[in-house]
Amino acid sequence: MVGSGTRVYGARAWRFMPQDFRMASSYGVPEGSSLADWPISYEDLEPWYERVEWEIGVSGDHRAMLHLPPYKRPYPMPPLPDNAQVRAGRVGLNKLGWNALPLPQFINSVPYLGRPACIRCQHCVGFACPVDAKNGTRNTLIERALRSGNCELKPGVMVERIDCDEGGRARGVRWFEADGTPGSAQAEVVIVSAGAVESARLLLNSATAQEPAGLGNRSDQVGRHLQGHSVASARGIFPQPVMDNLGPGGGIGTCDFNHGNPDVIGGGIIIDNLIVLPIIFWKRFTPPDLPRWGLAAKQFMRDSYRSVGEAKATIQEIPNPDARVRLDPNVRDRHGIPVARLSGAIHPETLRTADFMAERAEEWFMAAGAKKIWTSRPRPGLSGGQHQAGTCRMGDDPSTSVVDRWQRVHGHDNLFVLDGSVHVTNGGFNPVLTIMALAWRAADGILARW
Ligand SMILES: Cc1cc2nc3c(=O)[nH]c(=O)nc-3n(C[C@H](O)[C@H](O)[C@H](O)COP(=O)(O)OP(=O)(O)OC[C@H]3O[C@@H](n4cnc5c(N)ncnc54)[C@H](O)[C@@H]3O)c2cc1C
Repeated sequence: MVGSGTRVYGARAWRFMPQDFRMASSYGVPEGSSLADWPISYEDLEPWYERVEWEIGVSGDHRAMLHLPPYKRPYPMPPLPDNAQVRAGRVGLNKLGWNALPLPQFINSVPYLGRPACIRCQHCVGFACPVDAKNGTRNTLIERALRSGNCELKPGVMVERIDCDEGGRARGVRWFEADGTPGSAQAEVVIVSAGAVESARLLLNSATAQEPAGLGNRSDQVGRHLQGHSVASARGIFPQPVMDNLGPGGGIGTCDFNHGNPDVIGGGIIIDNLIVLPIIFWKRFTPPDLPRWGLAAKQFMRDSYRSVGEAKATIQEIPNPDARVRLDPNVRDRHGIPVARLSGAIHPETLRTADFMAERAEEWFMAAGAKKIWTSRPRPGLSGGQHQAGTCRMGDDPSTSVVDRWQRVHGHDNLFVLDGSVHVTNGGFNPVLTIMALAWRAADGILARW
């Protein structure tokens, strides 16, 4: 297996909605886009969503998830407690009559699977959890795999290429250790889990005489349809402190605008954002009419750090084939492997949806009582970012996709891609739970055969 299996940088543990799996049927295919339906449905994935929620550990309230079909099993842990920002956010959502839901999070709200509850330190993103209450593959599945004695973890290894025989059967991989020493292994099954950019890069770097444009790339699909999430936000100054130093932060939101919006395609969640470090506050939360230096900026930091909140919309991007990952013809990494080159831009429909979502975020904070509100919207430009997806899309037709519905690379019996790159569309939700549920489903498929 190439890659660690999905990491969790933040903690949001969202299921996609049924409509997210059938975007083309629901909205048509906008010009210049490659909007498409998935070959599988929400119902196909539902048992694995549930399984990941219990095996990795998610806190939340299934009864509040009114945008989804009823859950068959609740979350294993109740929601995390409110902080001041969540309380302010709830006032606004209730006033507007929008469904207010506690965010489902990969964070222990009570002791779970032998690890303690969250101590509410507010530094979930970018830092290791001091008490190990944040859940990801590293402290659950990888740990269990290592304990089984059947798994060897090779940290710091950079896989250079996948070897295939003339019949297209993957034979193994070649890599470089952290110190540059080359290594290799033979394998019955090769699973690529390197993330949307790096999985595409690896397939492209593994060209053979039979597939000179890269493994699985006979139809020129590897690397295309690169997506992420566009973000629109409203930031507002509240008359009261909304930062009370209690983490994890980012605890409430609504899914009323993921679908069914007039005249836009899709939509996304709107949530209150995590508590930010002072330097990030200065970089991102300074109002546009305020200088970013000097006494006025310092005064704003002193007076407003605790009273500014952010309502953030994570917007479903409309994929297009020109947003893509290719190999750079000139630049190589320290091992001499060609690096990825990203190009293309987000589709104009995504920008239209972002305008709509920025207005909803602003509406929320006005209703919540913010006195001064300013918005930010995505600019046209490259996609990919922190929720990168889509470069090895799943489909039944090898001429328009890279992997089949069980995530096997078309034309390669024993080569699989298990990560965000297989997403046909990326939902209006943080993607990790979906990546993990898909990977679990595909792994069960692999186990049934080998
Ligand atoms: C700051 C931040 C916050 C986020 N918060 C959330 C959140 O709250 N909820 C959510 O759902 N998502 C969140 N995400 C997104 C989420 O982390 C990604 O969507 C997810 O990790 C992608 O999973 P993946 O398996 O596709 O790739 P990754 O998790 O990136 O795993 C790929 C692995 O492969 C390794 N690798 C790559 N190339 C090679 C190679 N050639 N050889 C060997 N190893 C290789 C990489 O080092 C990595 O370990 C966040 C992301 C960021 C950056």
